[in-house]
Amino acid sequence: MEAAHTLPVWAGKDKIVQRIRDNDTVILVGETGSGKTTQVPQFLLREGILPSEGQHMIGITQPRRVAATSLARRVASELGCADPATLKEKQEHDGLPEWVGYSVRFDDRTTRHTRIKFLTDGMLIREILGPLPRRRGKPERNFKETNEYSLKRYSVLIIDEAHERSLRTDMVLGLAKRIQRDRRNRIEAGEANVYPLKIVVMSATIDAERFAQFFSHGQPVPILYVAGRQHGVRLYHTEASCQDWTDAAVRTMMQIHVSKPLGDILVFATGQEEIEAMAQSLKLYAAQLDAWAEEQGRDSVPTLLIRPLYAALGPSASAAVFAPTPKHTRKVVLATNIAETSITIPGVRYVVDSGLVKEKVFSPQTHVETLQVLPVSQSSSLQRAGRAGREGPGECYRLYTREAFQELQLQPTSEIHRTELSGAALQLYAMGLDPFTFDWIEPPATSLLHEAVLQLAELGAVDSRKDTVQLTPLGQRLAALPVTPSYARLLLAAAERGPEVASQARDLVSILSADRGLFVDVADPEKREAAESARDQFVDTSGDHATLLNALRAYLLAQQHAFQSHSTPAAARQELKMWCQTHAIHERTVKNVLAIRKQLIRICLQHGIECADDATKSAAAPDDGESESDDDALIVTRYGASSTRDHEQSYADLLQCLGMGRLSHVALRQPDGSFRRIAGGQSFKLHPTCVLHPSRHGARGISSDSVQAIVFEELVMTSQTFARTVSKLEPVWLQALLAAS
Ligand code: ADP
Ligand code: MG
Repeated sequence: MEAAHTLPVWAGKDKIVQRIRDNDTVILVGETGSGKTTQVPQFLLREGILPSEGQHMIGITQPRRVAATSLARRVASELGCADPATLKEKQEHDGLPEWVGYSVRFDDRTTRHTRIKFLTDGMLIREILGPLPRRRGKPERNFKETNEYSLKRYSVLIIDEAHERSLRTDMVLGLAKRIQRDRRNRIEAGEANVYPLKIVVMSATIDAERFAQFFSHGQPVPILYVAGRQHGVRLYHTEASCQDWTDAAVRTMMQIHVSKPLGDILVFATGQEEIEAMAQSLKLYAAQLDAWAEEQGRDSVPTLLIRPLYAALGPSASAAVFAPTPKHTRKVVLATNIAETSITIPGVRYVVDSGLVKEKVFSPQTHVETLQVLPVSQSSSLQRAGRAGREGPGECYRLYTREAFQELQLQPTSEIHRTELSGAALQLYAMGLDPFTFDWIEPPATSLLHEAVLQLAELGAVDSRKDTVQLTPLGQRLAALPVTPSYARLLLAAAERGPEVASQARDLVSILSADRGLFVDVADPEKREAAESARDQFVDTSGDHATLLNALRAYLLAQQHAFQSHSTPAAARQELKMWCQTHAIHERTVKNVLAIRKQLIRICLQHGIECADDATKSAAAPDDGESESDDDALIVTRYGASSTRDHEQSYADLLQCLGMGRLSHVALRQPDGSFRRIAGGQSFKLHPTCVLHPSRHGARGISSDSVQAIVFEELVMTSQTFARTVSKLEPVWLQALLAAS
């Protein structure tokens, strides 16, 4: 591994620190991998930029959670600090210093000793939003009030990966600018104990001028360039466009593996499902390599090490990506576009680029946000190729033609122009700001904001009459909950129907907020059948929501059983692993869901949402440092007790709550068997993985006629539009829903 001080950014260390001392805002531009993210916070800490009294911090925002956690761990290890992933929430850790922490949704690893804090931009916004105001009634706040405590502990805020222009980064840019100016004004007015907020915007590519202009209040903002280190990369294109890029990617990798000198391969894929499918096929090929080499009369082929990298991976799985590649081995990293600029993987010599990216796209015509696989821009494509040439000359295999490259858009479209804005608008209203006049670095189309207001009005979060939009008390509560406004609405609607329904909703939101689906998605048709019938055991004929809850409950009971019947935790864990395999449940996801659930238990308590199970009390007690598995077991015991009581779950109340304030997620069956949304005329089919999908009605005892109205969580657009996570609504409930909205 290269020593940190040989990174290009070290050459500019003194200048960078000096410019940050001398200016309120500095823009730092440099090639990916030059050391901006990992080194600059350390320079600032060592050079004593933080005021000595008080608990001041350097904050570094990241658009992605994997980047926030893995970069924090890296910086901690370079500084000889405690590994933030092992820090217990708000607890102190003995031994090593705890200067580096991270905070991502549902996982806060900071202590009062934290001096360098990596956080997602979404978490920073939550911090600005602050806690729910104690006073009931008057929902409006003005931003000055909010700002009283906004980011008080931060003396330096590094806004990283700014070129990516995620919606949350754009919000952070506008908010940080405002907080910086307010603090300046307070200092000038002679207020004590107020410190300036230094802002450092870090960006991989161009666009530096735009940031500099945005932050200049009369004074020019310096732009510093870190000299890059980039070797030549030889580009290859396909002759014809390929039908199945995953297949082409696997073949290309195998080709490289058997014919090219050692060096790791980085593959840019679209998402986790594709990555896992490719990992499967690679494993199959890799297993046959030795036999193949012998047959060909060749020397043995190097070992192939397969390492996936995507958002839903836990900290240890993503750390494996950085482990040095052993001798006579080739590492293949199958990554989403996280490896494009936010994470640099050492040792890469070959890049295989699908030319695709999975992105959320909002269509104002259909009022729905969908996940779509789209071609990348030329600048992303160049960035991706560049990853092969960081340590020496490299090669990039594009799975598209030269002509296709020419036709790509030059720059990516900023997220703000293609996403649904209701969550962002709600947060701004809750801070006392107006999204229509907010200081956006690049304002969204007014039509998108109007659309957001319509959605918020449907949820009951705002009252919009004539030209004024007023946040309602409900809106204030929705904004304070760290889940999407729509899930927040579900939690509050369920709370009104009593603790039993509230705990169902809380668990459901935990499941739906996880990074991936609870059930294993099997690409192989033969295994799919087995997975489907495993799932049949959990099926509730109302659809996916209740089925997911049944599966979670079954897991919790299995967990309770495992820990009670085995004397060692290791044996219990092994049993649970097997249980997950036979029930086609994704174990890592269940763990993720339980971690979220644990947080939501606390959050519900804080927000006065009373839930049925006693778990609330145990989880709300301060952590006393027990190990993770014991911790889960504790909650389960109590949960298990309550779930024997309500063994025959009734989900009718919960299902009605699913539609509350979410008419845009309700659809009616058409004569041809497709569905059409009540609001907006788009029609779609059920995704084959839905419990209510007609192909499994027989096996599941569902009568097709009974599925007249549905509520769905998301639409995905591939060759067709499909709804995923779908449940049936009784037609009689619809009237109540319509009347309530
Ligand atoms: P930049 O922000 O300029 O893109 P970084 O500071 O992220 O650069 O990366 C600097 C170097 O640190 C890169 O060579 C990268 O490979 C290395 N690095 C970053 N994180 C890790 C990690 N977790 N393990 C090993 N090396 C890492
Ligand atoms: Mg970086």
